[in-house]
Amino acid sequence: MEAEIIAVGTELLLGDILNTNAQFLARQLADLGITVLHQHVVGDNAARLEELVRTAKARSDLLVFSGGLGPTADDLTKETVARCYHDTLHFDREEMDKITSFFAKSGRTTPDNNEKQAMVPTRGKKLPNRNGTAPGVWFEDEGRYAVLLPGPPHELIPLWNEQVLPLLQPLCSGVLHSLTLKVTGPGESHLEETVGHLFRSANPTAAIYAKTCECHIRITAKAATPAEAAAMCRAKAQEFYDILGDCIYGEDDATLESAAVAALQKHHLTLATAESCTGGLVSRRITDVPGASEVFGFGFVTYANEAKEKLLGVPGEVLAAHGAVSPQTAAWMAQGARRASGADISLALTGLAGPGGGTPDKPVGLVYLAAAYQDTIYIRKLGLGGRSREVVRLRSSQNALDLARRLALGLPLPDDTQTVPAARLAEEMR
Ligand code: AMP
Ligand code: MG
Repeated sequence: MEAEIIAVGTELLLGDILNTNAQFLARQLADLGITVLHQHVVGDNAARLEELVRTAKARSDLLVFSGGLGPTADDLTKETVARCYHDTLHFDREEMDKITSFFAKSGRTTPDNNEKQAMVPTRGKKLPNRNGTAPGVWFEDEGRYAVLLPGPPHELIPLWNEQVLPLLQPLCSGVLHSLTLKVTGPGESHLEETVGHLFRSANPTAAIYAKTCECHIRITAKAATPAEAAAMCRAKAQEFYDILGDCIYGEDDATLESAAVAALQKHHLTLATAESCTGGLVSRRITDVPGASEVFGFGFVTYANEAKEKLLGVPGEVLAAHGAVSPQTAAWMAQGARRASGADISLALTGLAGPGGGTPDKPVGLVYLAAAYQDTIYIRKLGLGGRSREVVRLRSSQNALDLARRLALGLPLPDDTQTVPAARLAEEMR
C-alpha cells in the first residue's frame, strides 16, 4: 500500500508552526508497512488543494490529511476532499449535539459556524473526536482511501490510535516488528565496512542512524504474525551480534548509562566519578537512570587544580610537572576518587573542551580518561579534536560510561588502553 501525507494550513507555509503531525503520521505509516511516497504542505486554498488531491489520488492508495477541519471559512479540507472522492456531506444531529455539549461544558454557547463541523460524509465514515469539536473523516472511492484528521496534535494522535488504526490494519498485509540495536565505539563509516553487507536485505530491512555519540541499527521485519516478525528480527540481530559483539550495549530503550548501571548492579559493584572537563555530565547521566543509587554515591566535580588537590589528593607536583590535562593527573584523580569514596570502580576525566585554550602540545579535544578498578589504573587518551565543546564533553562521558560497563562486565578494553599497577602509581606517574 502506498500513501501520501497532506498537511493543510497557511500557517505551516509561513513557518508559524512546525509540521509535527507529518512526522507522527510518517512514522505510524512506516510501522504499518505502508510506503509514504510524498509529503505535502498546502495552504488554505480550495483550488490548490483540489489540484493536489486529484494528482495524489490518481497515484496513491491512501491520502492522510492533517488540518483544515475547523469551523472557519478557510477550513475547507472536508468539502474539497469529499468532491474528489465522489462523496457528499450532510448534517449530523448527533455530532451537532456533541459540539453543543462540548461548548456547554465550558459555559459557552455554540457559535453558528460550528454547524460546519457537524457535516459528515454520506458514503464514508465520521471518526468521532473525543478531544475536540471536529470529527475526523474517512472517504473511500474504488479502493482509494482518504483519512482527514484535525490539526491539533492532542486531537490528531488519539484519533489516529483509536479510530484510524483499526480501519487501516485490515488493509495492510502482514504485521511489522522492529528492533533497535544500540552501538557504541565504532562510527558509522566503520560499521559500513564491517556490517555494511547486512544492510542490503529487503525483509528484514536494516538501517543505520548515526547519533552524536553512537549508532543505532533499526531492524524491521514484515510477516504474517507478530511472533514470526519478531523471530525474523531476532535472527537478523544475531548476524549483527556475531560481528559487533560487545559494541552492542543494548536494545530498544536502553541507553549507555542504563547499560552501565545494569552492569554494575549485576556484579554488585559501586562507582564514583571525578570530573573536570565534563563538569558532572557523567554523574548526571548515571543518575538519570532510576535505581542508580544502588551503584552510585560519589561524584566529584574538580574543575580547578585546587579542587583536584583538596578533594582527590592529586599531588601538587604532578599538576605542576604535567598539567591538569595529562595521563598522570587523570590517573591520580581516579585513584583519589576511589580512595575518598570507597567505590569499587572510579572514573576520572580531564581534558580541553574548547573552544579556546588549546596549544600545539595540548590541542582542544585532548581528553584523558582514567579508571581505577581492583589493583589497576586504566588510562585512555581520547582525541576529540574538531568538535564543539558540547560534543567533546558528550563523547568524553560516552567513553567513560563505556569503560565502566566494560570493566564491570569483564569485557575487553579498547586497544589503546594503558595500564599501571595501582601500587606503583607514585613511582610511575610522578
Ligand atoms: P486547523 O485544523 O488547520 O485549523 O489547525 C488547528 C491547529 O492545529 C493549528 O493552529 C496548529 O496549532 C495545529 N496544527 C495544524 N496543523 C498542524 C501540523 N501539521 N503539525 C502540528 N500542528 C498542527
Ligand atoms: Mg488551519
